[in-house]
Amino acid sequence: MTGVTRCAACDRHDLVPFADLGEIPVRCGVHWASRSEALASPLGRMRLGHCPGCGYVRNLAFDPTVLVYDATMDTNLHHSPAFQVFSAELVKHLAERYPLRGGTVLDVGCGQGEFLRELCRVAGGRGFGYDAMYAGPVGPDPSGAVFHASHAPLDDDTPPFDLVTSRHWFEHLTDPYGFLVRLRELAGDRRVYGYLEVPDAGYDLATAGWEVIYPHVSYFDGYSLCRIVERAGWRVEATGRLFSGMFRFVEISVNVTGPRAGAREAAGAADRDRHLASIAGFADRHAAERDRWRDTIDRLVAGGDRPVLWGAGSRGVQFLHLADPDRRLAAVVDVNPRKWGRFLPVTGHEVTAPETLAGLGTRAVIITNPAYRTEIDAALRRLGVYAELLVA
Ligand SMILES: [Zn+2]
Repeated sequence: MTGVTRCAACDRHDLVPFADLGEIPVRCGVHWASRSEALASPLGRMRLGHCPGCGYVRNLAFDPTVLVYDATMDTNLHHSPAFQVFSAELVKHLAERYPLRGGTVLDVGCGQGEFLRELCRVAGGRGFGYDAMYAGPVGPDPSGAVFHASHAPLDDDTPPFDLVTSRHWFEHLTDPYGFLVRLRELAGDRRVYGYLEVPDAGYDLATAGWEVIYPHVSYFDGYSLCRIVERAGWRVEATGRLFSGMFRFVEISVNVTGPRAGAREAAGAADRDRHLASIAGFADRHAAERDRWRDTIDRLVAGGDRPVLWGAGSRGVQFLHLADPDRRLAAVVDVNPRKWGRFLPVTGHEVTAPETLAGLGTRAVIITNPAYRTEIDAALRRLGVYAELLVA
């Protein structure tokens, strides 16, 4: 879909380029077995364009042929206690708000299935989960969910569903509008609800932009996300921000009448205008943050502080690519055991267990995700590491 210029959300304007981030890591969720493979992993161009009408943002240079999703990718967030609590609260909320007992949930981009399993158990329904990155047992699961290690075909054999959920997948699609239209067609004349969750563009583009990563083709704030779901024939039941304002959700429905289930928070014209102002300042802010962190790491290394990065997810990979391409950090640690002893794309940093920090003598720990600050702080104290926590 290289060369897309029309706004996918409102279809009223052509997208206007506003930031060129050059070449960035493409497969930022893959942890390579050797440093040489990591160093040779692909780069792709990130050239952002925005819609002057609704604030939708897209990578104009995105090339779907270079990005393959398979089980070597691990973007699982469920190793974090903060994320587990958040996910459990979301399950409870959806099970209480929507009539799911005995119903069917379709989860598109189910990851390793934690959310769908819990939703089936709590709501008393069954579910179908699809994800090309799913690495668990395929087929029926004791929770009532059936898992497929592939993209959801959304063909005519798709089981009738009462709720469709898609968390942190919608922004990866080359044709997000077509996806919503297809789900609307599959709903037919049945009463169907939906829950979409994406990174909030109002957050990502108003900050340094460590979450502006190659797999994210689209960037939605509340306004543009409501535009695209409504244009595809869905009703907005509720929208707002979650997880320290970093995530944006929208609850949607078809063939439902009566009052909306919730509120439309931060999705009005004033919010869109604030978002457009963030977009206007993004390129300069992104470059300034990259330079500031290169200088900070220089200073910490020169001062003998042995700085480390905690968190080897997509944000961490993007941060390292921009701020530490020469691997001056003393270590990169992560709580996900699947990443230990493996190497991060493009820069080749090796990931180790947090326990390796004990005895390293580090006096500065950098994190790129403020939502994990409290749990990382507590983990450092448990390890006996007394270092300054720096939030990038
Ligand atoms: Zn638009």
